[in-house]
Amino acid sequence: MFDVAIVGCGPVGALAANLLGRAGLSVVILEKERALHPLPRAVHCDHEILRLFQSAGVIARLLPDLTDTDGNLHVGADMGVIRTMVTVGMARPYGWANDWFFYQPELEAHLRAGFAEMAHVELRAGAEFTGLAQDGDAVRLRYRQDGRAAELTARWAIACDGSRSPMRKALGVALDDLDFEEPWLVVDAEVDGPVHFPEISGLPEGVDLQRLSVMLCDPRRPATIVPGRGRHRRWEFMLLPGETDEAMMAPAVVDALVGAWLGAMPHRILRAATYRFHGLVAARWRVGNVFLAGDAAHQTPPFFGQGMCHGLRDVANLAWKLAAVARDGADAALLDSYQPERDPHVRAVIAAAVAAGRYICEIDPQNAARRDAEMRARAASGVQETATDLVPALAAGVVLTGTPGAGERFIQPRLDDGRLLDDATGGGWRLFVRSPAAAMTAAGVTTVAVTASGDGGALAAWLDARGVDAVLLRPDHYVFGTARGSAGPLLSAWRKALGLPSPVLA
Ligand SMILES: Cc1cc2nc3c(=O)[nH]c(=O)nc-3n(C[C@H](O)[C@H](O)[C@H](O)COP(=O)(O)OP(=O)(O)OC[C@H]3O[C@@H](n4cnc5c(N)ncnc54)[C@H](O)[C@@H]3O)c2cc1C
Repeated sequence: MFDVAIVGCGPVGALAANLLGRAGLSVVILEKERALHPLPRAVHCDHEILRLFQSAGVIARLLPDLTDTDGNLHVGADMGVIRTMVTVGMARPYGWANDWFFYQPELEAHLRAGFAEMAHVELRAGAEFTGLAQDGDAVRLRYRQDGRAAELTARWAIACDGSRSPMRKALGVALDDLDFEEPWLVVDAEVDGPVHFPEISGLPEGVDLQRLSVMLCDPRRPATIVPGRGRHRRWEFMLLPGETDEAMMAPAVVDALVGAWLGAMPHRILRAATYRFHGLVAARWRVGNVFLAGDAAHQTPPFFGQGMCHGLRDVANLAWKLAAVARDGADAALLDSYQPERDPHVRAVIAAAVAAGRYICEIDPQNAARRDAEMRARAASGVQETATDLVPALAAGVVLTGTPGAGERFIQPRLDDGRLLDDATGGGWRLFVRSPAAAMTAAGVTTVAVTASGDGGALAAWLDARGVDAVLLRPDHYVFGTARGSAGPLLSAWRKALGLPSPVLA
């Protein structure tokens, strides 16, 4: 019996396989396609995802094919800026730039190469899930491969089988519809030089439009343009009432839409396809020993480029919990925290994307002019934001709520010796203490003395800002909790949260 069976080897299933494999669990992945999906859908991810790639040991493979950029800009009907989420000149507390672009087939190939090196992780390509049964201790999956029916058994299964998720359907899980659905045309191209932007007023100081995701909230045709990695460029154009998918995908229409940005610049259209952008969240993320993750559990309009990021956060959340139960003796009840932690998180970011979608997709000129005035008034009132602010702290689950900083994403300073914090401390549970005298040690937790960490004072400043002397960090880099004085009570709360049977304190 495998520890974990993953159904679907898109980006979410592939990261899950890496994280679980690195934790030493035996993993099998069923993927119905023989070859990687050759076209990009996601193009953007954020600093937290880079940190997860770092945790999964795949960052060195990925970095040469990633490009960091400077954030988002929303432009109104009069071609003036109405919202900026720009990171130029800002601190990078998490160790990575906030915004990164990639080419999805490359990203997925690198993720697969990562787990291919692990003997206890097996990809069965061309294996299509057809059904399941479970009895409380194990999940039995049925699938077809090479025209033959087959079965396998795993202690847990994760449905990473995408938006149409046959597993979700087999489990009878309904989707909550967040009441947003708009048709957009997505065009990918390779372009041999900079694109031409219209004259945009009110640009923030020092920004380079070629390094930004620009949302043109133009009621005549809302559109997005984002820089990809290398020569890749992505455009998204909203379909207007009466326009059909077929007509909009016609090469002449695509050429005209994209040509307005390119003039004589040589380019090659890679693909043009229409999508329905919508907001959906599964009512249940777990049925017995089967968990839903990625697009199987939720879908978001892509206005902040977070759909895949949500899925990668899902499996980062789940992987350390499955490993704690399978390997470290944690109580299986720990797994009950998956949906309470992830569901509100995902809904908050989808709500922000839906709210942005409602004003972006405005096609009435008068409403658009009113929107622009309101958004400029909001910006003038001093609201400053980056896309980082969209992702909330964890409010429930395996966090010591009530302690300062609990549930926040923890910083990742670069150390004096050039390493990033996680590379120096290793993954897993980490206890940072101001004074070694205040520390207690516990099996399964790495203790780090902040005074000796050589981080230019970033960790001490984090503790100072929250008035605490110790912080306990989860394997997914969220703060479990903090303490003043001795870290003993923090470790006791940690053991209780994980349901660890016999505390081993030194
Ligand atoms: C136009 C567009 C732009 C986007 N931009 C972004 C962005 O910039 N940033 C971002 O974070 N997200 C973005 N997204 C969302 C992102 O593409 C998805 O969230 C992400 O690809 C979902 O990954 P997944 O692994 O959950 O599912 P998928 O990538 O859909 O993978 C599911 C896998 O399951 C397999 N499968 C299905 N059924 C079976 C079966 N019966 N048996 C075995 N295998 C099966 C499929 O073959 C597939 O390989 C965008 C989406 C779109 C449409």
